[in-house]
Amino acid sequence: MKKITIAIDGYSSTGKSTVAKMLAKELDYIYVDTGAMYRAVTLFAMRKLFISEASFDIESLLRHLFMVTVHFKRNEDTKEADIYLDKENVEKEIRNLKVSNYVSQVAAVPEVRKMLVKEQQKMGNGKGVVMDGRDIGTVVFPDAELKIFMTASAQERAQRRYLELTGRGEEVSFEDVLENVEKRDHLDTTREDSPLVRAEDAIAIDNTNTTVEDQYHTILQLAKDRIYGRI
Ligand code: C5P
Repeated sequence: MKKITIAIDGYSSTGKSTVAKMLAKELDYIYVDTGAMYRAVTLFAMRKLFISEASFDIESLLRHLFMVTVHFKRNEDTKEADIYLDKENVEKEIRNLKVSNYVSQVAAVPEVRKMLVKEQQKMGNGKGVVMDGRDIGTVVFPDAELKIFMTASAQERAQRRYLELTGRGEEVSFEDVLENVEKRDHLDTTREDSPLVRAEDAIAIDNTNTTVEDQYHTILQLAKDRIYGRI
């Protein structure tokens, strides 16, 4: 059966990863969460104190970038791929609001993007991949057979994220989560290198009022149309 590349881009907390994981499972494809890779580099920068509320020492990060190794490894309990920073599983730590608050600044650094995009292209070079992020359909795999661009209102996205974080026991306020969502939207769409933008040939899906299931079935159908050559 023909294997394709599925690129899912969009704003934060639009449920990209949920749908991407479901698709990868159904199609027996690899799933790559590229946001996790930017988050892991951000965690590295935070631990080295290169980034804080007061400042971002880009020069120091660049000097130490060669030390950063980021990779995925299957977690046999969850059956999902966890992200590792060097030999440490940082899957949980990278999801907190602190990392979310800094990640878009780190992701705007061209050298960081260059390093991670290279890795992403390697991971997906055999096709049979569902990759989610901000620049997959525009930069990482501009020739992807299926490109989806997901949006939803900022309020709805912040609400989903708030429930996710508090569900994991993090003490955050809805206002802080909304502020983070809006700040990241702004930074991600206005940065110079690979801004978040819909690829011309991407199919836009607004999921403010749709269920994950509905959305999944729509995208699965689009994928099958391409796999079986109906499009
Ligand atoms: O997908 P997630 O919300 O975990 O991504 C975290 C951040 O990483 C985004 O807000 C964005 O700044 C950055 N990112 C990116 N390019 C990607 C994936 C994520 O710039 N392909």
